[in-house]
Amino acid sequence: MDEIKKLAEMLRQSKDTLVLTGAGISTESGIPDFRSPGTGLWTRMDPMELLSRPALERDPVGFWRRVEPMFRQMAEARPNEGHYALARLEKAGLIRGVVTQNIDSLHQKAGANVVLEVHGHLRSVYCPGCGAEEDMPAFLDRVAAGESLQCRCGQIFRPHVVLFGDQLPECFNTAWRWARVCDLLVVVGSSLEVAPVCWLVPEAKRVAIINMGSTQCDYLAEVVIRGRAGEILPALAAAAGE
Ligand SMILES: [Zn+2]
Repeated sequence: MDEIKKLAEMLRQSKDTLVLTGAGISTESGIPDFRSPGTGLWTRMDPMELLSRPALERDPVGFWRRVEPMFRQMAEARPNEGHYALARLEKAGLIRGVVTQNIDSLHQKAGANVVLEVHGHLRSVYCPGCGAEEDMPAFLDRVAAGESLQCRCGQIFRPHVVLFGDQLPECFNTAWRWARVCDLLVVVGSSLEVAPVCWLVPEAKRVAIINMGSTQCDYLAEVVIRGRAGEILPALAAAAGE
């Protein structure tokens, strides 16, 4: 496809390329985009309500019971060809790294080293009182078994996920700096509807977008490729000669 060749050429020309990924790259790993209604076991609830800081603070035990199936499915998912292709591009020195809105760790599982997780991750939980940490899988087993979710200090553990109402983590500032200095930003699998991540896009000198549907920033992109990340990214990596 001509557009893939064009983007491969842009990649080769660029001395500093950043990739921004969203839920669309993980749907092929069996993780539904929780913003598209009507599918999956957790979409009976509004994610803005389900994954909100007020919901966690109001009823932490109920919060954990509701999110447990969703977190478990994400934590057990496997990377797909799109994640592997990005990891190869990083190893080949063709991209600096990935800024991701996803919390599923699939970039790292595919072998990526430079990943800015601006919405957090699911590898562990922490205590907001004393900072103690626990592995997520063991903690989810405690939730499923109805055991105590309290830290030794008495507070209830919370996820390292950025909830609605939380501040963004420090790595968002790094993502912002990198977007401003990069030659090329490649958006993959995001409709760019979620602020402030979507604000990174106008900062970049050149923009390319790979997504199934249209996005808020298509007008900023020199190349827009409609398709599945698991097909487009391996073809792009091959065309760029990784
Ligand atoms: Zn504690």
